[in-house]
Amino acid sequence: MEKITDYFGSMVFDDRVMKAKLPEKIYKSLKETIDKGTPLDSTVANSVAAAMKDWAIEHGATHYTHWFQPLTGLTAEKHDSFITPAPDGRVIMEFSGKELVKGEPDASSFPSGGLRATFEARGYTAWDPTSYAFIKDGTLYIPTAFCSYTGEALDKKVPLLRSMDAINRQALRILKLFGNDNIKVVKTSVGPEQEYFLVPAELYAQRKDLIMSGRTLFGAMPPKGQELEDHYFGSIKQKVSEYMADLDKELWKLGILAKTKHNEVAPAQHELAPIYSTTNIAADHNQLTMEVMQKIAKKHGLVCLLHEKPFAGVNGSGKHNNWSISTDTGINLLSPGETPHENAQFLLFLAAVIKAVDDYQDLLRLSVATAGNDHRLGANEAPPAVISIFLGDELTSVLDSIENDTPYDGTKKERMQLGVDVLPKFRKDTTDRNRTSPFAFTGNKFEFRMLGSSNSISCANIHLNAAVAEVLRQFSDELEQSEDFNSALHELIRRTIKNHKRIIFNGNGYDKAWIVEAEKRGLLNLKTTADAMPKICDKKNIDMLTSHGIFTETEIYSRRDIMLDNYVKAVNIEALTMIDMARKEIIPAVTKFTADTASAVAAKTGVVSVACKYEKRLITTLSDLTDEMDEDTSALEGAVAELRNIEDIIKASEFVRDNILPKMDTLRVAADKVETVTSEDYWPFPTYDKLLFGVK
Ligand code: ADP
Ligand code: MG
Repeated sequence: MEKITDYFGSMVFDDRVMKAKLPEKIYKSLKETIDKGTPLDSTVANSVAAAMKDWAIEHGATHYTHWFQPLTGLTAEKHDSFITPAPDGRVIMEFSGKELVKGEPDASSFPSGGLRATFEARGYTAWDPTSYAFIKDGTLYIPTAFCSYTGEALDKKVPLLRSMDAINRQALRILKLFGNDNIKVVKTSVGPEQEYFLVPAELYAQRKDLIMSGRTLFGAMPPKGQELEDHYFGSIKQKVSEYMADLDKELWKLGILAKTKHNEVAPAQHELAPIYSTTNIAADHNQLTMEVMQKIAKKHGLVCLLHEKPFAGVNGSGKHNNWSISTDTGINLLSPGETPHENAQFLLFLAAVIKAVDDYQDLLRLSVATAGNDHRLGANEAPPAVISIFLGDELTSVLDSIENDTPYDGTKKERMQLGVDVLPKFRKDTTDRNRTSPFAFTGNKFEFRMLGSSNSISCANIHLNAAVAEVLRQFSDELEQSEDFNSALHELIRRTIKNHKRIIFNGNGYDKAWIVEAEKRGLLNLKTTADAMPKICDKKNIDMLTSHGIFTETEIYSRRDIMLDNYVKAVNIEALTMIDMARKEIIPAVTKFTADTASAVAAKTGVVSVACKYEKRLITTLSDLTDEMDEDTSALEGAVAELRNIEDIIKASEFVRDNILPKMDTLRVAADKVETVTSEDYWPFPTYDKLLFGVK
């Protein structure tokens, strides 16, 4: 049997390979670039390119691609082969430093929100040496950033790197104040837990809605759903287990630290979690994980659904973004330390996150807003659309004590004195209340749980890093001016808790009463993408994001437009698919069933004189429901036609929210009702019970 340790990372041009393949001087210089961000010169690039090419060819690659993350949310790639004609008619394999460092994809069809039209027709990709190149399907993949020629970011990686840079700069200022002069770099890390569904491929192929939109647009609940919760952490079925084993192996070859796998709450739902890594690498790896998940599923006769809400009435899929900040000296800044000094530093970073989440609730909410995720947030399973922070009772009581100068627990009489006292040891809170929180402190990291399963984690982390960087900037500005550091620190933390404690909520986030309470506290409840997305252009957000160099103002407007456009397009496709399925599949099937039932009545009454009460009632019900479906479909058709005439993207998104989505819901109600009274033999596509329980 092959050993994991032998093939782990075998398809990655990682540090081991670099060290072995590069001349020592070149290796050192590349390491500098990777660790400290020093610019890369062309000799180094040429040498790295040559080594990469030789290594890739040894591993069976024939092509290379600049791999990037355009604003569609997917990844993009264009493959070029290494071949170059030689004078004698043969070919040689070539790959230069220039080709490694910069690429020019024909980018005209990627969304740019008008950026390219305003500036320059083409964009270019630039190598991100901090994320390792790898081989997949015979191609060398080079992780890259995607910009316009005038430097505007056309992707999700550029702003993510900028946000990491911003938090690095501001955190270093704070750390200096605590006397940590040896720390050179601060980085954020993320471990994204990924949820997904698996359904049999042959059933998937019979559902236009799954194919077109990734979710079921029709479907009545089966007799058994998830109410027994017997699937959660239950034993994994043979077929799924084989899939997971194969998936792990593929991911390990690509150097992805796939760690845990288990069943989730809903039937057919599963989760994969990697070991955390530096944020931009975690983002690349998560994109790659999603791709590989889907590819491997096909090999097993399955389809992997990454949609946030593939089935109504059953839990949706999300992604938990476990996030922390740490130093190059190995200190996790969100870990309460061992000494009073470390504790004080921890409390300051904690206060910064609390204020950041409160001040920028809107940015966090909109960073996860998509048509798919709207079905999840606020429903009774996922975090609500309202953002709040779970700290747990112990840590909350420490903060109370700081705010009110009161003792923080029954055993100790004194108040909490920063820089003098040691914090009590917190137990990791794993209660249900914790699991319902959109943003929970879990001992030494925060877990942001609102991300949808198909979201790129970049967006959430850009805004989270940016918001925290901004608060650290404000804190540094204040503390750098102080005469007595310890008392200024105490005062700052106390004031921050006082002003921002409304964002802390340790109760059950699924409780309806919480939404009422949150409103009293003045917290935002941005229910849909149409409500959330325009907020990115609020002055306070533009000011903050531009001041840290994370986005330009133009980039912000373009992002708003692209995200709203994605929302409108996604729902429009769903509406058209519903119309198609209703008119061409459901209504004809039900009509046929009705007609056959009527023939049965005729056949029966032709023989004997019977009332046929059951059949006649059924025929009436079926006819009424098909009439209803026909009317609902016409209403939806009308709304879709109207949407076509709305030019303004904000108006279009509001129309989708207020007109299209409600009409889709109405049509679905009628269709799902008719499903429950139609013979299974007539129903035109696989129903929920087969999809959810079909994998053996
Ligand atoms: P929990 O039980 O709180 O969900 P786990 O240990 O199962 O925590 O980890 C969940 C995810 O969080 C994993 O991907 C893990 O690698 C990641 N994680 C653990 N520690 C950190 C950290 N300091 N920073 C970021 N992510 C982390
Ligand atoms: Mg978790």
